[in-house]
Amino acid sequence: MERGEGVFERIARLAASLPDGAEIAQRMGRAGLARDRLDPSNFAAVPTLAKGSLAAVQDAADGFRAVLPFGGLSEVSRIFRSPGGTYDFAGDGPDYWGFAAYVSAAGIGPDDIAVVALAYQGTPGAFMFDEGLQSVGAAVIPTGTMGSEAVLSLIEDLRPTVFVGTPSHLVGLIRRHEEAGGNWQATMRLRLALLAGERVTDDIREFLSERGVAAWQAYGTAEAGLIGHECDVHSGLHIRSDILVEICDPATGQPRPDGETGEVVVTVPRKVYPMLRLGTGDISAFAGGECACGRGEKRLVGILGRTDELTKVRGMFIHPRDIAALAAEVPLAKRLWVEVHREADGDDVRILVEPATGPHESAAFEPVEQLFRQRCGLRGRLVVMPQGTGKDGPFVRDLRQK
Ligand SMILES: [Zn+2]
Repeated sequence: MERGEGVFERIARLAASLPDGAEIAQRMGRAGLARDRLDPSNFAAVPTLAKGSLAAVQDAADGFRAVLPFGGLSEVSRIFRSPGGTYDFAGDGPDYWGFAAYVSAAGIGPDDIAVVALAYQGTPGAFMFDEGLQSVGAAVIPTGTMGSEAVLSLIEDLRPTVFVGTPSHLVGLIRRHEEAGGNWQATMRLRLALLAGERVTDDIREFLSERGVAAWQAYGTAEAGLIGHECDVHSGLHIRSDILVEICDPATGQPRPDGETGEVVVTVPRKVYPMLRLGTGDISAFAGGECACGRGEKRLVGILGRTDELTKVRGMFIHPRDIAALAAEVPLAKRLWVEVHREADGDDVRILVEPATGPHESAAFEPVEQLFRQRCGLRGRLVVMPQGTGKDGPFVRDLRQK
């Protein structure tokens, strides 16, 4: 980033410097736009790229070069894989994902110790927080997907001030400590929970607040990194200052008037894996008025839903294509589908299997949970159905009340 350069200047500079083979360059070319003529008046003429199309772009011949327009792989520090078959690329440099703005807004600094209890394997969520925390000087305990008992023991020994993870995980840790006779609030130092992956209900906020823990939330994607974050007023999500967010009609890609709902379309002008008008599939709206915190950035009201068929559970997407592939790996199943239910303690993912022939012991299907986890990065619970009870239908059925 050049000093003093605005977001749009950086976007225009990015567009002008793209190699001809870059996916963004080709997309602009198809729309008849000259790359050195991009300005705010014609920007919305650049067709959006649907998040769901990224896998196809990457699958295409020479796809990686098309999504990595600049230094190619030499500029890349890490490669992640998202459900649905997309690869996500991170570049060198501190705070590539933009999470420092979030952790700073939450008041985290060099005297903080943070547990990061998100998966470090395969997907970028844990690294987004980890690098943001490192960039403000906080110490990180990378517990990743360690079991609850081990995580609790680390918390009891090291007394961290910040927890990063899912709300159900944190509530479970606190309950475990209290059931063993501990007085959480009197002995632990935890004051902040940066929660991800699940809806944060009022009950959870209250449970944590009673124990001196403030619950914070942000919004980001594996392609863009941080998009918006809460402030201490907790009224919407302030948009990161070095990216451009539009709220668009999902069908046309055209911006909608302020205050109306639409798809979050994000532009991230950076050297590695730049994003120009990426349609996230998330639905939101700009919040009206100024925030009482005094920050100037525009806010989103929060994420109101999904525009496409992807089903989001605990921060991960279940793609029907992944479940179709899973079903093909289980020949003993006549039908296999996934249902997502909302339970009191979080979202419940069930993998339902109807055996093909004769009664089968559940044990025959036990590998299904592991296969599902490998594909989707999520835990699911196997449910073997009696024969004849399955229905033909979609591979993924989201039965949570909206
Ligand atoms: Zn604010």
